Amino acid sequence: MIKDTLLNLLAIPGPTGSESACADWIEKEIAPYVDETRRDTMGNLICVKHGNGKGKKIMLSAHMDEIGFIVTGIEDEGFLRVMPLGGVRFDQVIACHVVLKSGAQGVVFFEGGHAPGTPLNAARLFIDIGASSKEEAQQKAAIGDWAVVRPQVSDMGKRVASPYMDDRSGCAVLLETMKQVKNSDNEIYAVFSTQEEVGLRGARTAAYAIQPDMGIALDVTLSNDYPMNKKGVTPSKLGGGAAIKVMDSSVIAHPAVKSAMEEAAKKAGVPYQFEVLTGGGTDAGAIHLTGGGVPSGTLSVPCRYVHAPCEMVDISDLEACVGLLVALL
Ligand SMILES: [Zn+2]
Repeated sequence: MIKDTLLNLLAIPGPTGSESACADWIEKEIAPYVDETRRDTMGNLICVKHGNGKGKKIMLSAHMDEIGFIVTGIEDEGFLRVMPLGGVRFDQVIACHVVLKSGAQGVVFFEGGHAPGTPLNAARLFIDIGASSKEEAQQKAAIGDWAVVRPQVSDMGKRVASPYMDDRSGCAVLLETMKQVKNSDNEIYAVFSTQEEVGLRGARTAAYAIQPDMGIALDVTLSNDYPMNKKGVTPSKLGGGAAIKVMDSSVIAHPAVKSAMEEAAKKAGVPYQFEVLTGGGTDAGAIHLTGGGVPSGTLSVPCRYVHAPCEMVDISDLEACVGLLVALL
């Protein structure tokens, strides 16, 4: 069940640059379904399913990394100074519970955080790990250590909310797809990529090494279908099916890839929708600029509250994405 896969993935911390625990878990799960797995210099997990030589080389990419924080300093009073890793929304992490690389727990707060109108920015951010001196804090944290919002899942049945749906839901879709694809003509590269949140870095080197004929990123897209925002510019709808990207700030989907995805959705009989993301990009942004260019697109899971600790997806959308991909491959 894809929901179980997703819940397992959500429980593994993996901030940008520290994705290896997530890669270990995925590698173990995927190994029986692929011909080879390998890691590259960037930490990408690359899983290959050989074709019969008549098909194309297709690269699918879902990023393992999550947004988080890096410890930049420890104060005499025991507070940790941190900077964000990726696109952390400060107004949405204030007062959140966090876990550190060492396993220590703490909370995020801001200088002057109780005063109305206080600007929220990185310079005011700190983590309180319950230490009352620098020495005590140093037992639990060092400069360069990561911290992430503690994964907490609200399971509402068909819908689930948790931090890191971006992009563990893409990872779950990719893993399930590889379990279900049988006897494809195509040589399929399932890439679980690193460092997407700081600029699509892992996918860039993976695509260079693979030189695919087609690239598809699997990621979340904004679903702004919640109160007060019904007329949001992003039309994707939670529960509306697999979202085929038209464009975002990193890529304009190649027409051939876009129509291949639409045809596959029809063939599989799964619901689909088109989406335009006005800010943000995906691994397709890196893949399509590789070498002389790679026809690329993105298949998105609609997600409410992206980059907040309560990102919400609808399991039926993940299932639709898997159905579409299996038909496409
Ligand atoms: Zn993402």
